Amino acid sequence: MSPGGSPISWSIKKKIREALSLERGTVYKEHGGRLRLALVYPNTYGVGMANLGFQSVYMLANDMEDCACERAFLPDKDALLEHERTGTSLLSYESQTPLADFDIIAFAIPFEEDYSNVPRILSLAGISPMAAERRGRGPLIAAGGVGVSLNPEPLADFMDFFLIGEAEGSLRPVLEDIGKGIETGRGRDETLEALDSFIWVYVPSFYEFTYEGAAIREIRPRPNAKPLVRAAKAMDVNGLPVPRSFVYAPGTEFKETYCLEVERGCGKGCRFCAAGFLYLPPRMRERGAVAEAMDEGMARAGKVGLVGAAVSEYPEIKELLKKGIGKEATVTLSSLRLDELDEGFLSLLKEAGYRTITLAPEAGTERMRDIINKGITDAEIMEAVRLISEAGLRRVRLYFMVGLPGEADEDVQGIIDLSINIRKALRGGEVNLSLNPFVPKPCTPFQWHPFAPLEVIEKRMSRVKKALGKAGITVRDLPAKEAFVQAYLSRADRRAGRIIEAASQKGWKRAIRGQEEFVGESVFHPRGRGDVLPWDMIDHGIKKDYLWKEYQKGLAGKTTPPCIVGKCTRCGVC
Ligand code: SF4
Repeated sequence: MSPGGSPISWSIKKKIREALSLERGTVYKEHGGRLRLALVYPNTYGVGMANLGFQSVYMLANDMEDCACERAFLPDKDALLEHERTGTSLLSYESQTPLADFDIIAFAIPFEEDYSNVPRILSLAGISPMAAERRGRGPLIAAGGVGVSLNPEPLADFMDFFLIGEAEGSLRPVLEDIGKGIETGRGRDETLEALDSFIWVYVPSFYEFTYEGAAIREIRPRPNAKPLVRAAKAMDVNGLPVPRSFVYAPGTEFKETYCLEVERGCGKGCRFCAAGFLYLPPRMRERGAVAEAMDEGMARAGKVGLVGAAVSEYPEIKELLKKGIGKEATVTLSSLRLDELDEGFLSLLKEAGYRTITLAPEAGTERMRDIINKGITDAEIMEAVRLISEAGLRRVRLYFMVGLPGEADEDVQGIIDLSINIRKALRGGEVNLSLNPFVPKPCTPFQWHPFAPLEVIEKRMSRVKKALGKAGITVRDLPAKEAFVQAYLSRADRRAGRIIEAASQKGWKRAIRGQEEFVGESVFHPRGRGDVLPWDMIDHGIKKDYLWKEYQKGLAGKTTPPCIVGKCTRCGVC
């Protein structure tokens, strides 16, 4: 039994303690006199611990003397059965305290596919998932992370508040304010009102939505609530701690890899890429801080992963790679721009232990790559492959999408032809393809564009798989129906809450049954410049007009050059 009287399964506790015993860097704090924060990743321990954003928030919160931050995760299948069998409430890791005993439960949510785990986790914690049904009792429930910063609305009914944007400058003042409120016995309504004074906090109950069918007629903030929520952004990342695997946890998704963020943002302006626009402007970290974090990583783990949307553009990337050569640890990069590859770089990658080079042409023809502003020609791709082959590297993984704006049959044939040509140029080497349906994301120029009809996506994916299967190229794909759910959650308003809750209990297929028309309207209906978008109250600093112009340029097949930080003000961020 817990001190509060609810049953606790010893096998669940044992499992948690076994995971803790393998960790290094875990923070243990007494709860007494401190703000108690349960930081939840809405997926299993292995997935959550591989997420740098989650790790960073854990460390930022625990850097505060007055805050005891502990982690919690969605239990794996066996543990879920044990929770159900014994009635054990969801426990935090560090002290195995039931989540309902914390002052705040904060979800770190990078991906839409985990949304249905949110109500599931709250139910497991014995907390009513819907904020309106909690009637102000129990811990404050909050969320942050990339997914909800792009569009918090699908989870609006579950949350008391959201922290929008980057956590470095915004988390501490919010937690301090909540801590002060607890000391002075402030009520929940007063707390939410106080939190609303932070420009990066979104309190969904302070905004009223009116609808016209599947569309939104108006978003109206209640009197005294701010009309726009400004996403928090650390314009200068230097001087801030380098986000890294603060808690090193073997047995996670990226086994034995110690990850660290080298840079944030990408200035190439690919029109489909939410991370690219959300994290503008591109910000490089000082080499000294990165090198120090690398040394720590190499001492701890067998592999150091350098993370960022455009890591290969980091000015001293070659020096960083060299640091790992000849040492016990290998160094890997999370992304490679194929126009950055040259002989020297490839031979360094090979020395650093690379066997597979991952390239992302994204589309099969130059015409299509102009639409998405990828800015890479067929000749450049083939030159990169020639260099890869000459460097003695024989394995290439390719990323492509189908269902992009303006896509025609010739673009799909382009994926097939290009992949086969790449395989030939590798002279017997191995080519694997990752093929995904394009999902239009908020905060990108394609945010107005609809998701392609399912039958079109399925037909095109099957055509690529069939043709490449015959050519000996393996294709891994995200099924169109899963991408459809992602597309819905990317574009949905708060009416998605009930569907998400149903999905948490009976799966997406049954949750959507009977609502196909409504959900389909959100996913497949094109939106115009004058339409109200569910995330219109969020301001990421990028002018909506700029995104619209980029969308129109994309449809016309016109490209836009990359950012020149310090010399450009065009999108409004700098
Ligand atoms: S203002 Fe220019 S340099 Fe700054 S983020 Fe926007 S496009 Fe990039």
